[in-house]
This record gives sequence, structure tokens and C-alpha cells, in this order.
Amino acid sequence: MKKVEHIGIAVNDFNAACSLYEKLLNTKVYKVEEVDSESVRTAFLQSGSNKIELLEALSDDSPIAKFIAKKGEGIHHIAFEVEDIKTEMARLKREGFVLLSDEPKLGADNKRVCFIHPKQANGVLIELCEAIEYPRKAKVMALNLDEQLTLFQFRNKLIIPDDLTAYFKLTDTEIDSYNQDMFTFYKFDEFKSVREDVGDYRGVPDYRNIVNTLAEHENCFVFAEYSIYVEVFAIRLYETQSNQNEIYAICGDEYKVVANSFTEFIALYRNNWSDVMI
Ligand code: ZN
Repeated sequence: MKKVEHIGIAVNDFNAACSLYEKLLNTKVYKVEEVDSESVRTAFLQSGSNKIELLEALSDDSPIAKFIAKKGEGIHHIAFEVEDIKTEMARLKREGFVLLSDEPKLGADNKRVCFIHPKQANGVLIELCEAIEYPRKAKVMALNLDEQLTLFQFRNKLIIPDDLTAYFKLTDTEIDSYNQDMFTFYKFDEFKSVREDVGDYRGVPDYRNIVNTLAEHENCFVFAEYSIYVEVFAIRLYETQSNQNEIYAICGDEYKVVANSFTEFIALYRNNWSDVMI
């Protein structure tokens, strides 16, 4: 055994758990992956040299669904990295441990894995894992921009309209930006919900009440600002591709719809930016 490779945590609500652990560890999920053999969706976060794996059941007969039904959410397993999983499995068998499979299975995060029954380890499910050197074909989301967009939409269950996606793609390669005067347009990694972006801002203006005045604020995301939050500009996203995505100019707890799409907003803004202010 080389070291603890990760700790697996069984969760009910994948999106909520990802957000919570991102806050807790102050780092982003770096990989989301589905493991068909276990019928689970997994997310990995790294904290220093340690990893946390969040696991959500994808069907009722998934081991994670059974675990949660029996014990509730919580620590599901501890995984140890091994040099050669077959050798280690043979050693443990000789020591009298019962392994949950005779052969290593394909696990998440490019690993060959095998489990030891918790009855034989003081109630803890133990995973052995060996890194596979070659990247196998899997639903891995290494996070380039396209994949970040996919993950964002999947996690928020909201669709970013094509015109805004095109803008994020342009700014990802640094070739274009609509920044001018005191306006700053965000890149995709700064694209956050109104609450996340300004919901705690108590300067002038004070934004703390906007979450009460703006209906369904959790679907509104800030893409630009004027002079450090004097005004911010947010777009309303929907669950499906929409022909209308309202653009709000927001100042403190006041707001106004200034355009009905990102494209329309940019046209107004380019013509005379004061047209898009409250
Ligand atoms: Zn694991």
C-alpha cells in the first residue's frame, strides 16, 4: 500500500455536494465522471496532495443507493493506492481477507480497483486502486472551455445561449472583448450567479437585497460590470435554448430589463453604452 489515494463520500444531491465541497476546500471540481460498472456519477476535488471523491447513485440498484438507504450520506470508502493491484489482491487473500471481486474492475479517475468488505475492516469499506498509465476511453471532463461550459450547464440545469457562448469562446483566446471605458466584460471563469457575484456586496450601492427583489435570481448570471459594481449586467438563463434571455442592468437592489438577448445588448452598448444603464 503506497498511501491513501482518496476518500469517497456518498451524496444524495450531486450538484449541491459539488458546490459545498468546492466552498469547503476552496477549489473547483477537476473531474466529473460516470462509472457504468457501479452505476455512479463521481466528482473529484483535490486538496493539497489529498483527494475527495463525491459519489452519487445513477440507479436504485447502485451500491451507492444501497449504502445511502442503509446508512444515509457520509464517508463511503477509503481508497489506498497500490503499485500492482493483482499482487496486492493475492497478498490480501492469503491474509484471509474476502475481496468483493476476483478481478480488478475499471474505476473512476483512470484506476483499476477492488474492494474489501467492510466487515473485515472494522466497518470501513476499503478500496485498492492502481493507476492505469494510458488514458482509457471514458466520460472524462478535463476542463477546457467547452467542457467547462458543459459542466456549468449540467450542474445548473440551465442553457447558455449561443451568442453568449460565442463571446466566451472569443475571450477564451484573448482576441476580443467588449471592454471599454469603465465597462468590464467577464470571461467564462468569472461568470457567476447574481448572489455569488454581488449578493454580499455592501458598498455603494448595497447589493444585499437584490436576491429579494429580483425574482428567480438564481437563474441570473452576471457577465459584465460598470466601474466595480456601480452597475452590473446579468443574463437570465433557461432550462432550454430560449429565443429570449433578458438582460438586466442591476444597481443595488434595483434592476431594469435593458435588452432581450446578449446580441441585442451588445448592439445597444456599442451604439451608446449609456443606453444600457439603469
Ligand atoms: Zn473511490
